[in-house]
Amino acid sequence: MESEFVAWLRRHAPAHPQLTLGIGDDAALLSLLSSQCVVTSDMLMDGVDFVLSDCDPRRVGRKALAVNLSDLAAMASKPVAAIVSIAVPTTISLEVTKAIYDGLLELAAEYGVALAGGDTNSWRHPLVINITAIGEPPQRGVLTRSGARAGDAILVTGEFGGSILGRHFDFRPRVDEALCLHQRYDLHAGIDVSDGLSLDLSRLARESSCGAIIDASCVPISGDAFRLAERNPDRGSPLDHALSDGEDFELILAVSAETAERIVADRPIGVPLTRIGEFVAEPGLWLRSESGDCQTLTPRGYEH
Ligand SMILES: [Mg+2]
Repeated sequence: MESEFVAWLRRHAPAHPQLTLGIGDDAALLSLLSSQCVVTSDMLMDGVDFVLSDCDPRRVGRKALAVNLSDLAAMASKPVAAIVSIAVPTTISLEVTKAIYDGLLELAAEYGVALAGGDTNSWRHPLVINITAIGEPPQRGVLTRSGARAGDAILVTGEFGGSILGRHFDFRPRVDEALCLHQRYDLHAGIDVSDGLSLDLSRLARESSCGAIIDASCVPISGDAFRLAERNPDRGSPLDHALSDGEDFELILAVSAETAERIVADRPIGVPLTRIGEFVAEPGLWLRSESGDCQTLTPRGYEH
């Protein structure tokens, strides 16, 4: 099975200008423009990140790569290559495995990512797929979590909450948006929202040794968050979903108040950008109502 599959994969993994030596040898050879590369890795497991029996396997492959591209976006790094390792249950057919790769390769082609190699094994346990993605740092250096300063505005891309209704599979990693914003404006810090807006914001604030205030009325809440809250009012309001659901894969950025104003006025990317609050000197996280009252907000989201 493995040699047939590798032959299939060699035919389907397209050539890439930076992949000097691709699938078929003992290791790959990548040509990078910079002496540094950005590396990230994410592992997805059946039953935790998706339920294979309930979904199109193409979406699983797509998501496995997309979550890695979102991490590269958070660093304002241009994706170059992906190394894909997969442990496939013996109970699924070769066609399902190929479908997983089809979804992955389709997204790889959209973002110009080379499939540089990896490993395929089968076992008597649920599907596990691990991807290591490699990116180029931007000319002005990578964006990190640690550069936010008191007084900076909190800017976010897109909308939050209710991704479980489908967006956790079909989201667009904000790679082009991050590259464009980082090139045009002075971004102080950034993170992607994988585990929840409040939780990931608190992580960025902690790395920057500051705190953050979210203006409750400014948070862009997705239609899915409203649908979930309507279906099950006991599980929280639409705002609760937006603050804590996770897997939105949007970006949180720290920029000076003046830069935030310029970015919001310029609308430099096709995705909405919203100022949802500000960073403050005192460590902690608060939710501010329209009347100005601040309440302590416990960061909530998906804890691994
Ligand atoms: Mg991340």
